[in-house]
Amino acid sequence: MSESVTIVGAGLVGSLFAIGLAKRGHKVQVHEKRDDIRKLSIPGGRSINLVITSRGAKALQDVGLQKILDQDTVPIKGRLIRTKSGKEEYQPYGVFPDEFNHSISRGRLNCMLISEAEKVGAKFHFESEPTSIDFQKKTIHTQTESIPYQILIGADGAFSKTRKEYLKHLGVEDKVESLGVSYKELFIPSGTNNTFLIDKNALHLWPRGSHLLMALANLDGSFTVTLYTTDGSEIDIHKIDQSKQIQALFSKHYQDAQKLMPNLEKNFLENPNGHLGTVRCKNWTNEKDFILIGDAAHGLVPFYGQGMNSGFEDCSFLFEMLDTNESWESVFRKFNSVQRMNGLAIQNMALAHYHEFSDRAGDMEFIKFKQAEQRIEKAFPDLYRSSYSMVTYSLIPYRFIQSIQKLQEDLILRMLREFGEPEKIDLALAKKHIAKTLTPKLIDANIDLSEEFSL
Ligand SMILES: Cc1cc2nc3c(=O)[nH]c(=O)nc-3n(C[C@H](O)[C@H](O)[C@H](O)COP(=O)(O)OP(=O)(O)OC[C@H]3O[C@@H](n4cnc5c(N)ncnc54)[C@H](O)[C@@H]3O)c2cc1C
Repeated sequence: MSESVTIVGAGLVGSLFAIGLAKRGHKVQVHEKRDDIRKLSIPGGRSINLVITSRGAKALQDVGLQKILDQDTVPIKGRLIRTKSGKEEYQPYGVFPDEFNHSISRGRLNCMLISEAEKVGAKFHFESEPTSIDFQKKTIHTQTESIPYQILIGADGAFSKTRKEYLKHLGVEDKVESLGVSYKELFIPSGTNNTFLIDKNALHLWPRGSHLLMALANLDGSFTVTLYTTDGSEIDIHKIDQSKQIQALFSKHYQDAQKLMPNLEKNFLENPNGHLGTVRCKNWTNEKDFILIGDAAHGLVPFYGQGMNSGFEDCSFLFEMLDTNESWESVFRKFNSVQRMNGLAIQNMALAHYHEFSDRAGDMEFIKFKQAEQRIEKAFPDLYRSSYSMVTYSLIPYRFIQSIQKLQEDLILRMLREFGEPEKIDLALAKKHIAKTLTPKLIDANIDLSEEFSL
């Protein structure tokens, strides 16, 4: 049955959801507080690029936009760790050639999604934001009007007004848990004729403990660079406001990157600071006519590259449920019981991944762990896949992946203790241990790795 659906937020998740709903014949109205992003040059300091992985790719396919992956992204096949001592350590992401990530400009993707949503009938209202929401009378109030709704979707990001209003209605306090880490976007321009000055197919990572630098390629030969620092530590972007300090920081810790950034000082001083946190919200829906999706429901830190991907997975989940012709109430109930647990799992895995990025990535023990794991994964892909592979290249529920993480870690560490070096591990013995510990978990959860990775 065709419904009238009001979405608050025309970001990545709200726009993608609008496409899928409009294609299913629903009347979709989207209210976005900012001006139309397609009219703006991409806002300074916020043109962050993102990686799309399996869950994002599936949602793009669901709305008929899989061509974006081929036409608008740069393949990212591994990470290149640049250590303090100047060494480079390449860590491939996947163990098979078709397993890689896709880097895309957030602004460009957002523009494409809004245009597609309009094309299939969704109506966008820019510079329109709720000042309050009456959940009893099913009405959104803005500065200028009162808008009744039938179904309301809160897709207005980590600092969601719809979430705040809903929690206020329930008498519950809103909670965004700070990581205590802030970030600043910087930039490496392209070389002559749009050439890439460093490997375009790697995520470049400079782990330095309490701070780190990351660079990801754009289609035009440039790189978006992000500096993350710990609030209150010796190196804290909030305390750096002079050219001298910026150059000193980069000369000491990121000299190779510094050479590639002619506008370092200007970008540093002009671009805003971003702050990272985890949205802790138990109430995603009233199981009737209101639901939160994407960052509004489960905002997370970006270190697993899964914020947008998990938000897109919310959309895929809802599309699949709506196609069963169940009532909205029933769909929202299922979403709340299944997807909320997955949201929680990826939030926690993303927090754990922060330490991998900032501290462990360049550490010899960690490198050995990864090498051992990849050797086992390659030998028995139908029996063992790393949690990174499952998160990034399959649609296996985040919750399941998190539930077997410790078992996997114990298994690899045990093999390393017994055999010392990754290449000396007795694979037959590893297989025996997998069959005893991990295989029963996969069977219980009805997960067949050979099918999950053949998408
Ligand atoms: C540095 C960094 C790197 C990241 N890298 C990745 C990555 O590689 N891969 C990945 O999957 N994710 C990544 N993420 C996370 C990703 O950006 C978010 O998860 C994603 O943007 C969430 O989409 P959303 O539509 O839910 O929210 P948003 O993108 O925040 O969109 C919300 C929209 O709602 C609008 N809005 C806000 N308030 C109101 C209001 N009151 N009324 C109306 N409209 C409103 C906003 O203007 C915005 O357009 C990264 C995040 C950061 C910070």
